Formats: sequence, structure tokens, C-alpha cells
Amino acid sequence: MSELLSVVVPAYNESPVLGEFHQRMSGVMQATGLAYEIIYVDDGSTDDTAVVLNYLREQDPAVAVIELSRNFGKEVALSAGLDHAVGDAVIIIDADLQDPPELVHDFLREWREGYDIVYGRRTDREGESWLKVTSAKWFYRVLNRLSDVEIPRDSGDFRLISRRALDALLSLRETHRYMKGLYAWVGFPQKQIPYLRRPRASGTTKWSYWRLWNFALEGITSFSDVPLKLSTYLGVITSSLAFLYGFYFLLRTWILGNPVPGYPSLILIVLFLGGVQLICLGIIGEYLAHIPTQK
Ligand code: UDP
Ligand code: MG
Repeated sequence: MSELLSVVVPAYNESPVLGEFHQRMSGVMQATGLAYEIIYVDDGSTDDTAVVLNYLREQDPAVAVIELSRNFGKEVALSAGLDHAVGDAVIIIDADLQDPPELVHDFLREWREGYDIVYGRRTDREGESWLKVTSAKWFYRVLNRLSDVEIPRDSGDFRLISRRALDALLSLRETHRYMKGLYAWVGFPQKQIPYLRRPRASGTTKWSYWRLWNFALEGITSFSDVPLKLSTYLGVITSSLAFLYGFYFLLRTWILGNPVPGYPSLILIVLFLGGVQLICLGIIGEYLAHIPTQK
């Protein structure tokens, strides 16, 4: 049987670029000489993305459209698309033409070489603000320090995934999906390809700083339990300090007497109990971390 490629494209309010995107993407897919399907996921767009997508589907039998009932965010949109992809390999690409469809040829070459996940790594961040570039740099530094799996920086969702890696990925059903972490987590031979990421063809980015911040928290809480342990360590430090302080008060009262009756015992009990509470929170946190998240 001949091979089939699936292309998954999440789209949120992308109607101005979709026509051009589809043309370029189809051109590239035809040039591969393989059978292909292009699955567009309309992530609850409020513009006429749905209209454009349905038009494309009528024109081109290779197109499939998934419409989500509301805006769920890119991670969920992607997962919906991946669930329906039937190809031997799937390609994930943004609709805004920031990821050049032509790179798919390189992805396919490395896939033939035996790599299961081939992803683009942007060599520069043209058209992005200094704040975004710097915060991204720090985020990856912190994330990789805290997490057990190495999550590559400067790479997005733009990639090719083989069928077996996709099946592994789809077996992870967490509701809070940090896809970049999940791609790294499933393992398999992975290969990166550097590319130049262009500014958006039109429209604006759908990621506000607030959304990026929440996304960063998602990444850290999904792939690290270090913040959880923080409470335990703080508790241990606080209660140890309480002990030292208590010892100091004991000596002082012994030598100098006790000028403010009640104060030493009061402050000691407060500090010590605070420490014990933090330790207990940390223990509960550890158990919580071992409960699998349900869909
Ligand atoms: N996207 C989506 N749902 C959202 C936000 C974005 O499906 O809630 C899609 C969007 O249409 C685009 C891709 O995800 O195809 C990347 O979004 P964007 O270009 O805004 O992100 P950036 O390139 O700025 O990181
Ligand atoms: Mg973009």
C-alpha cells in the first residue's frame, strides 16, 4: 500500500491567510508525490474561518475540516486534529505561513532516514519583540533545569511525527496539554532542522503575554514537581530556624532573664507550627503529583 501523509493545521481567526496557505501547502504536498490529507481544525474562530475552510473542502477532496465548539486553545485544537489523522506520518504546521511549508521535504528526508520526530528549529526570531525573545530564553532555561526531559528551545509545533510516535503521543490523554513537553517525553529518535521563521503573512499573533505566562506555568507544572517540593523545603528550613531561635531564647532567658513574658514561647510556637504546616502541605502535594490527570 502506498504511504499517506496527514497535515494538521490549527486555525483561529485565520481567514485572511487560509487561501494562500492552502495553495502553498498543497503545492508542496503534490510535489512529494505521496497521497495526502490536510486536516484543518477551526478552533472556535469568530471571523469567517469556518466559511473559508468549508469552501476549501468543497474544492479539494484532500481537505478535511474539524470545527471545535468554542476556542479551546492551540494545544487542544492540535490534539483534535491528531486524533483524526490517519497518515503514516503527520505534519503539524501553523496556518499563518510563519512555518515555511517547503521544509516538509527536509522533514520527509529525515523521516526516511529513520527519525520518528523531525522538528523545525527557528534560527532567528524575526518580527518578535525583545521582551518575547528574552522571556522565551529564560523560560527554557528554567524549564530544562527543573524538568527531567530535555525540551528543545526555539522549536514550536512545526514538525513531522511518525505513526508509531504519534500513537504513543495520543495515548497520553491529559487535559492540560503542554505539547512541546509531550513530544520530548515520548522519546524515539528525534532530529531538528534549522529554519528561518518569517513574520506572520497577515493578522496578529493569538498569544498575549498573559496567555504566554499561563502557557509557561503549564509547561513547568506539567513537567516538573520542583515547585511542589519547595513547600517541603521551606517548611524544613522554617522549623529548623525555629529550633535555633528557641535555643537562642533559652540561653538568653537563662543569662539575662525574661523581659517580655510569653513572647519567646509564642513566637516559637508560631514559627514551629508554620514549618510543620508547610511540610504537611508538601507531603500532600507529593501525593497529588502521583495522581494521574483524568480527561
Ligand atoms: N491557534 C489556535 N487556537 C488558538 C490560538 C492559535 O488554533 O487559540 C493557531 C493559529 O491559528 C495558528 C497557530 O495556532 O495557526 C499559531 O498561532 P499564532 O500564530 O498566533 O502563534 P505564534 O506564531 O505567534 O506563536
Ligand atoms: Mg504564528
